[in-house]
Formats: sequence, structure tokens, C-alpha cells
Amino acid sequence: MARIVVLGAGFAGLWAALGAARKRDEIGAPAADVEILVVDRNPYHNIRVRNYEVDISDAAIPLADLLDPVGVDHRVAEVREIDPVKQHVSVTTNASSETIGYDRLVLTLGSQLVRPAIPGLMSNGFDVDTYAAAVRLDAHLAGLGRQAVSEGLATAVIVGAGFTGIEVATEMPGKLEKAGLSGTRRVILVDPNPVVGETIGKQARPIVSEALAALGVETRLNVTVTSVDASSVTLSSGEMIPTRTVVWCAGMRASPVAQTLAVERDRLGRLHVDQFMRVAGATNVFAAGDVASCVVDGEHSTVMSCQFARPMGRFAGNNVVANLLGEPMLPLDIDWYVTVLDLGAWGAVYTVGWDRQLSVYGASAKATKQTINRQRIYPPRNGARADLLAAAAPTVQKPPPAARP
Ligand SMILES: Cc1cc2nc3c(=O)[nH]c(=O)nc-3n(C[C@H](O)[C@H](O)[C@H](O)COP(=O)(O)OP(=O)(O)OC[C@H]3O[C@@H](n4cnc5c(N)ncnc54)[C@H](O)[C@@H]3O)c2cc1C
Repeated sequence: MARIVVLGAGFAGLWAALGAARKRDEIGAPAADVEILVVDRNPYHNIRVRNYEVDISDAAIPLADLLDPVGVDHRVAEVREIDPVKQHVSVTTNASSETIGYDRLVLTLGSQLVRPAIPGLMSNGFDVDTYAAAVRLDAHLAGLGRQAVSEGLATAVIVGAGFTGIEVATEMPGKLEKAGLSGTRRVILVDPNPVVGETIGKQARPIVSEALAALGVETRLNVTVTSVDASSVTLSSGEMIPTRTVVWCAGMRASPVAQTLAVERDRLGRLHVDQFMRVAGATNVFAAGDVASCVVDGEHSTVMSCQFARPMGRFAGNNVVANLLGEPMLPLDIDWYVTVLDLGAWGAVYTVGWDRQLSVYGASAKATKQTINRQRIYPPRNGARADLLAAAAPTVQKPPPAARP
């Protein structure tokens, strides 16, 4: 019996596990000979890109529904450390600590938000980095909705005007409304840069500004947050904004577990992987998704995104089984890159290419965004083994259509 351990069941990990099960099936290796085990701190697959939405009720799918039909084992545990020499990982649960041995490892623990040591941020800030955090934010807003009107009660301050911060800010008016917050509702987007969406591309930036204005989202640019408490946030300009809701959206880093491998990492803490998803310098270790960086078209490296995490996962799953059983592996090549940024009730904006050329925006881009978030990135949910395995084939989807056909 050989064991493949997949750490993490997000976009890369789920698809790596399904991809491994598909390859095992294709080769005809019995599950009793090649065990595939997924370890995640949660018993669900989070459609993480939806965590900013008004309605997140469909953003967590039980792993049992997706992995049991294809004979993949799964365990809930916190991954602490990898020992690539002894070929085991250390994990903890509420009850115990233990090690799990592997013959091949697929590291797909993703990324996490960086919260700087700003006074009061840790205890008073919110985020949408994980499903649990997004549920906590929604519960907090619902709680405010039950209170009598007071200063700052219906004000949300979003910190970080990159992709996630813009999506949170433009969706926030809908969230405040859903929570039943009365009084003057304010949404304020804060960023140290002089413009909103510094990296979004020159062509898309005015579209984002138009959406923010139409939705009544205020901005505070060229400023940083200096402190947060339960009822206000203070900016480097000296401005104090009364608010109970500060949502931190600035800065991402690869999972700290990647640091337990003594190999080179990039400035985001990501491991370098080759086109087969093998970690450079670590024998029998594959990685995919936000924890890894891979050159996909001979020139560009992956960016942290589900757009890349899913195909990286499928190829990692295919290749880890191929590698274990002495079959040829498949290189990953992706010749397109797009961004589709949600702008709440205003619409969305779609860019194509690494230079982020404006494609479409408004309602048609929103239709594309909704298709992505609600259909395209979901695994089959009918529990059918054949459908789950087929969806995990090591192929690269075409870009999402720019408008509804
Ligand atoms: C609000 C938001 C909006 C986004 N929008 C977009 C978008 O529009 N388009 C896009 O392409 N990308 C978007 N992203 C980024 C995208 O979600 C990530 O790039 C993607 O989730 C990466 O997939 P992954 O599998 O590498 O990591 P994840 O999906 O984060 O999965 C990691 C898994 O590992 C588990 N895990 C982590 N650490 C441990 C541990 N120590 N022990 C046990 N389990 C652990 C987690 O529970 C999780 O299941 C967005 C992200 C956010 C937060």
C-alpha cells in the first residue's frame, strides 16, 4: 500500500485529490493499493472567492459529498509541519498530535491574509479570508442590525483597495441592507496608494471608480490605518471614523507550513514548482495553488487565484499518481489570463491578458462573474463518481466567455 497525502481541500487540494483519484482509476490501481488521504482543518470545500458576497450560504460544500464517492479518505486536522526526510506530516486535532506518513505529498494549503500589528486590529477587525471569517462578519452585521441606531453603527470601513477590498466594498451596501441596518449607511474604502485598484490596469480603473461613485462608496487614499477599536478606526491623516465594522483586506502570504520545507520561496512565501507541480528541491513533494508558483506560458508565473489553483490542482493530482506508479507526467501550460472583478449591484469588469486590457463591464461582465462564481468553479454535486472523476481530467478550461451567449 502506498499513500498520497493531500494537504488542504481548497481549489487546488480538492482538484488534486479528485485528479489523483481519476488517474488511479485510469491506471486501474485498486484503492487498497494506492490510498489518497486529504487533510484539512475544515470538513468542507470553501468556494473561497464567494466569501465577500451578500449570500454565502452555498459557499461551503461538505467534503464527504465530493470525496466519498471516489474513494478518497479525508480527515479534519490542523497541519503543522512537514518532514521531507522522514516523509511525514505533523498534524493536531482537539484531542491529539500525530504524524501521518506519505509516499507522495501534495501541498495545497493556500494562502492567508496578513494582519499587521496595528493596535486593536486583531481583536476588533473582520475579514473574508475564510468561510468562518465571512460567517463571523455576517453574524456581526446581523447583530448590529438588531441594535438601536447610533453613531457609526451602519458604517463599514474596508481596508485595502485591491481586488478583494473592492469586491467587499461594492458588495457591502447589499450586506448592510440585508442586515437591516438603519440610519445613514456608509461604506469607506481605505488604501495607502493614491488610486483605487493600483494593480487593476489603467483601462479598468475608471470603471471601478464609476461603480464606487454610483454605489456611494467613499474612499480615503494615501492613508494607512493607525488604530482600531470597537467603535472607531483612526487613519494616518488623523481622521477618526466612527464604525463597528473594519474589514481588513490587505496583503496575502502563502501558508506558513510551506516554510517548514528548507527550499527556496518567492517574496509571497510560495514554493517554486516545475510544470509537473513538483517542488524544486523537495523529493516526492508536489504543490499547487496559492502556496506554489509556476511559470505557465514560458514567461509568466501564476498569480494567487482560483483561476490557476484549479488547473494546478488537477495536474498535481494526475502527476502525483503517475509519478508514484511510474507513468509519464503531464506538463501544465496555460496561455490565457483574465480578471473578472465584481462591482456589487453596479455590475463587474472583465479584463484580458497579463496587461489587463479592458474587455467588457457592467451587466454583461456581471453575468460572466455570476456564472464563474455559481457554476464554473463548482465541482459536480450529484454525487456521481463518474462525473467527479471526469471533471478532474488534467485539462485547462477555455477563458470564461466575455458576455452571456
Ligand atoms: C474574498 C476573496 C475573493 C477572491 N476572488 C477571486 C477571484 O475573483 N478570482 C480568483 O481567481 N481568485 C480569487 N480569490 C483568490 C482565491 O480564492 C485563491 O487564490 C484560491 O482560493 C487559492 O486556492 P488554494 O487551494 O491554493 O487555497 P484555498 O482555497 O485557500 O485552500 C486552502 C485549504 O487549506 C486549508 N488549510 C490551510 N491551512 C491549513 C492548515 N494549517 N491545516 C489544515 N488545513 C489548512 C484551508 O482550510 C483550505 O481548505 C479570492 C479570494 C478571496 C478571499
